[in-house]
Amino acid sequence: MNQNEKIQILQDIIKMPTINDQEDQVANYLKSLFDRYKIPSHKVEYAKNRSNIVAELKAGNGPVLVLSGHMDVVSPGDESTWKYPPFTAFIEGNRLYGRGASDMKAGTAALAIAMMELKEEGAEFKGTLRYLGTVGEEIGELGSQQLTEKGYIDDMDGLLIGEPTGYSIVYTHKGSINYTVTSKGKSSHSSNPDLGINAIEPLITFYQKENEIMKPFEGKSNHALGRLVHSITVLQGGNQVNSVPEQAFIQGNVRTIPETPNDAVIQSLMTLVEEINTSTDCEVSITIDYNKIPVDSNRDSRLIQAARQVVKDKHHIDLKTIGISATTDAAEFSKVNRPFDFMIFGPGIPALAHQKDEYVEIDQYLEMIELYKEIIKNYLI
Ligand SMILES: [Zn+2]
Repeated sequence: MNQNEKIQILQDIIKMPTINDQEDQVANYLKSLFDRYKIPSHKVEYAKNRSNIVAELKAGNGPVLVLSGHMDVVSPGDESTWKYPPFTAFIEGNRLYGRGASDMKAGTAALAIAMMELKEEGAEFKGTLRYLGTVGEEIGELGSQQLTEKGYIDDMDGLLIGEPTGYSIVYTHKGSINYTVTSKGKSSHSSNPDLGINAIEPLITFYQKENEIMKPFEGKSNHALGRLVHSITVLQGGNQVNSVPEQAFIQGNVRTIPETPNDAVIQSLMTLVEEINTSTDCEVSITIDYNKIPVDSNRDSRLIQAARQVVKDKHHIDLKTIGISATTDAAEFSKVNRPFDFMIFGPGIPALAHQKDEYVEIDQYLEMIELYKEIIKNYLI
């Protein structure tokens, strides 16, 4: 495949506005490319117009390496504030602009193209190379959850996700918990508050005590990720200034580390809510809306060694291995009952993710395809 075709592929998929939906457009596009290169592939439907794409190259017995990228993007926000419209894939010099340029259609395309070129070149390797393009990563890691549950990674030895890292390797990231505490009271006219039960009050108690119950968790630290952090982010209650509120809720987010397992944090939140519930006339309950575990892996795994070696040989650069706070599809893939090598390594600038005027450097995108090919050949021996 020539360089112009590779750039064209990226432009084509950036032009598909897969904002938390419609990933079929990218899945169909990649499927026809895989077909052209005679790489077996199929779609796995998640919902209407939303399919994951799975492709596989197999060459005898050997390790199973999974390449993965998500096909959805977040909303561009107010498009009029962008330098170039976010779904036109405009090129200016070495920069290709667009929503998803960095997060992460460049990585999603580069991984697929690396696989196609290996096939085209008749490259020798031993084992299985599997491509998983996922839906709904940005709104709950939906596709990776589905593919994990359906057994697509039951035999996985290594996982390479092409989220943007620039010249670093991510081997660990934080987990994330979203929760809602709901309070039900009884309304009354505010001239007679004794006749009502104010739904806001127990949530004020929750707000104050949440800090205390998080203290033991905050006391722990991870050498790459730092400490657990938590925030109360939404508080809503009542609907009229002269009525005692009968309904209120509070929402919070916790970013966990491997030393503070999600289950333990959730248990503490539930215990606190139970205590508050028994000491108030309101009905107070908690729901866990989002529960993504932290991901930890061996920073010196064979996969990471392969990547560092390839980059060192080609560019004389020592890649750093780091941790990040954001969650990825790896949180769902980690639920597989099996240890595996893991790294995130991909084109793009992490700080541009979810920002306006997002772009990817074309040189870096093209170079990453070459690096991926070498890493794959190095790992699948
Ligand atoms: Zn992403």
